[in-house]
Amino acid sequence: MNEPSSVPEQVDAVVVGAGFSGLYMLYRLRQLGMSVKVFDSAGDVGGTWYWNRYPGARCDVPTTDYAYSFDPELEKAWTWSEKYATQPEILDYLRFVADRYGLRSDIEFSATVTSARWDEQEKRWRITIGCGTEMRCRYYVMATGCLSLPKSPDIEGADRFAGQVYFTSRWPHEGADLTGQRVAVIGTGSSGIQSIPLIARQASQLTVFQRTANFSIPAHNGPASADRLKQLGGDRDGYRHAARWSRGGIPMEPTDVLGVTAGEAVRRERFEAAWELGELFGILNVFADQAVDPASNDIVAEMIREKIRSIVKDPETAEMLSPKGHYFGTKRPCLDTGYFETYNLPHVRLVDLRKQPIVSITEDGIETADESFGFDAIVYATGFDAMTGPLVAADVAGRDGLSLKEKWAAGPSTYLGLMTAGYPNFFMLTGPGSPSVLSNMTVSIEQHVDWVAGCLKDMREEGFETIEPTTLAESGWNQHVQDCAAITLLPTANSWYMGANVPGKPRVFMPYIGGVNAYRQACDDIVGQGYLGFRMTGPGGDRCRDGVIRRMQPDVAMVLEFLAAMGLPPMETLPPADARALMAATAATRPPGPKVGEVTDGAIPGPSGDLPYRLYRPAGPPEGLRPLVVYFHGGGWVLGNLDSDDPLCRDLCERSGAVVVSVNYRHAPEARFPAAALDAFAAVQWADANALELGGIPGQLAVAGWSAGANIATVACQLARGAGGPHISGQVLICPVVDSDMTRLSYEENGDGYILTTALMRWFWDHYADPADRSEPRAAPLRGDLHGLPPTCIVAADFDPLRDEGVAYARALEAAGVPVRLTRARGHTHTSVTMVGTVISGAPVRAEIAEALKNFFPSAEPLEHARQRR
Ligand SMILES: Cc1cc2nc3c(=O)[nH]c(=O)nc-3n(C[C@H](O)[C@H](O)[C@H](O)COP(=O)(O)OP(=O)(O)OC[C@H]3O[C@@H](n4cnc5c(N)ncnc54)[C@H](O)[C@@H]3O)c2cc1C
Repeated sequence: MNEPSSVPEQVDAVVVGAGFSGLYMLYRLRQLGMSVKVFDSAGDVGGTWYWNRYPGARCDVPTTDYAYSFDPELEKAWTWSEKYATQPEILDYLRFVADRYGLRSDIEFSATVTSARWDEQEKRWRITIGCGTEMRCRYYVMATGCLSLPKSPDIEGADRFAGQVYFTSRWPHEGADLTGQRVAVIGTGSSGIQSIPLIARQASQLTVFQRTANFSIPAHNGPASADRLKQLGGDRDGYRHAARWSRGGIPMEPTDVLGVTAGEAVRRERFEAAWELGELFGILNVFADQAVDPASNDIVAEMIREKIRSIVKDPETAEMLSPKGHYFGTKRPCLDTGYFETYNLPHVRLVDLRKQPIVSITEDGIETADESFGFDAIVYATGFDAMTGPLVAADVAGRDGLSLKEKWAAGPSTYLGLMTAGYPNFFMLTGPGSPSVLSNMTVSIEQHVDWVAGCLKDMREEGFETIEPTTLAESGWNQHVQDCAAITLLPTANSWYMGANVPGKPRVFMPYIGGVNAYRQACDDIVGQGYLGFRMTGPGGDRCRDGVIRRMQPDVAMVLEFLAAMGLPPMETLPPADARALMAATAATRPPGPKVGEVTDGAIPGPSGDLPYRLYRPAGPPEGLRPLVVYFHGGGWVLGNLDSDDPLCRDLCERSGAVVVSVNYRHAPEARFPAAALDAFAAVQWADANALELGGIPGQLAVAGWSAGANIATVACQLARGAGGPHISGQVLICPVVDSDMTRLSYEENGDGYILTTALMRWFWDHYADPADRSEPRAAPLRGDLHGLPPTCIVAADFDPLRDEGVAYARALEAAGVPVRLTRARGHTHTSVTMVGTVISGAPVRAEIAEALKNFFPSAEPLEHARQRR
């Protein structure tokens, strides 16, 4: 322990924590010429690597990558001995770093920060250390780590045990000699899995108590990977740059092989290669879709279970060790050295706590529901109150005295995982809402430290003293974090990412899963936009550019990037025939949509010739009658056909349980206005007249359409109302064209860059209708008489030029007394909601559409009643 230093009363910055984050933060703040004080409860530097001294403790990111990269000279001065270094070696490294840069003089050890209060008068933080020493500082940085607050064992009688008790996260510095002892290990997360093989070597009997079987793959430890060393040696800067702009913080080519479509040989080959490589990011990248598609995930999961069964000789133990009930990767997978093999040893036994829960810990052992066990030592490998735990434990109170604990009662709320509104000048390194534990932490730590240092430098140069995010920016970021998680399987698990390991902790997915690269880009963009979403104040005045940095759904953004990279010609530059061919070619490569009971093609007699239709019947008894939905595809009256919206029709049919009849109407420019609208009306009349033959319940007919298809769907409703029939129970209008006025704000905001552009809309109108006709209600239904129209569901997408006319139509319908459900497709474009199987975030919107459809109809009548009514 250092001698207690004469604590200056006031410094520029206080940093809590002297692990990877705190050490580098100190280094960077000093470079800015700031006075800094670092506090750590630990007796030395190292953080995680100071505390976690259990046998087998190692990193699980290769050490070539799990190290600082800010100083090339440091990299030259240190050589790692293994692919995955041990805890003592990593601790030595951090001590070496502290000494090399003379950091210790500003660090006080064995000093716990117990509270921090923002003083609005002084514009400073008042920090309390230990039992009462106070400090004041302008900037308060929590480098307190994501996995630094051990979870206390919530087991009855835990303090009663008379033998030795060990916590993997607080292992004695002098080590623990377990030779010849009867040892219990409780917990099979990362620390348990790393320590169990080594504890088994000493113990005379080892009993492992497992609540959840975890996925683990062999680390194949040894010398550092020759391939990585070669890349680093050849081009260090390039390698580090690639790491910074990778998804996980390690240079790696993401695969585009889909588990669901790959052949068996490819699947096996990719899995075996990842198993042999022994790297977490490798096994998480066997297939591009394994984190989002349950079927793909299960292929990898089952191959791992196969491996476990092949290693563990006792089938019952193998079964207990085979993870079930959570998708692979939704809890942090482990890297091990001989973990599963350990269970083949005669003195090692596994107890499944789901079958045989612990009743209590006794003076000399553990009582389960079925058995009493005697032990000399109990090792708790029970994990951490992750991410938020150390932050709220340090009792931080912001501007209005509100504690972080209170603010985060329903889950963490941050801007970028770096700051939180109401807590000026308070920074969190790798806080919730940043990639943190889903990444190679050293890369994420350096990025955060660099960002904070850059921010403080900019503030000083521009004369600002305080910085704080706005609530708008923060809630936008929280939403983005959740949107990114929601398209993956990760929130489905009871993981510590979700806070599920701590009783009473709110279930919120805490880390940012959008990738280190996407995250870095967001942080850079925020700075590039004048610190978007931050309020800065100082003697020179206030500055606040309020806004949300990422409003688009992450998978929609990916689709846009993908399309941009393809460099396709803009549709409006092509003749209609070529545009149709291009659309058909792209449609051929997309996922087919869900299976339905039956799909049949037919023809409807239209006003001037037959109109092809495709009927989708939901799964279920073929004789059962269902509500009927007549659907019209999108494509600006020019493009599209029965195939173009096929996945969407399947999805609508499957979700709503209705029979969907998709009608191919005449297209422009061959058949101009009002051909498509007249065809739509004819199709609706025909469907109504032939409901029973189509499997529909007579009188239960709705219309639906997307884009221009929604235009003719609602025109058909207006015509039916005018003609006194048929009766239409409801209309679903997905991103409809309802007006020819292209001056609304949404055209200005979204007219370029989101697939449907202003130029393309103009091209569509020019092909469809003469300018003189465009204000006619059969072209611009918003301008028609809206009284007496059926209940309506309108979907308006944020990034659609047509957004505002959809909203205007909803308002106008409401004003005319029509019941309206306006569904906002948050973060979507004109096309993305319809991209079934590609854009996962569209699914909740389509679920709402299906719900609206169901609500149009009274509950289904029994078949006989319907027949009789007819
Ligand atoms: C066993 C284990 C293995 C890991 N392996 C990897 C890996 O391979 N790759 C990877 O990327 N990540 C790994 N991690 C995550 C690891 O925590 C980070 O990589 C990294 O070490 C975090 O550094 P840090 O400085 O942010 O936090 P920490 O290293 O956790 O340091 C935080 C420090 O803050 C101190 N502190 C907290 N609260 C207070 C307070 N109120 N007052 C005073 N001091 C306080 C703590 O004592 C601690 O020393 C592992 C974690 C564990 C537990």
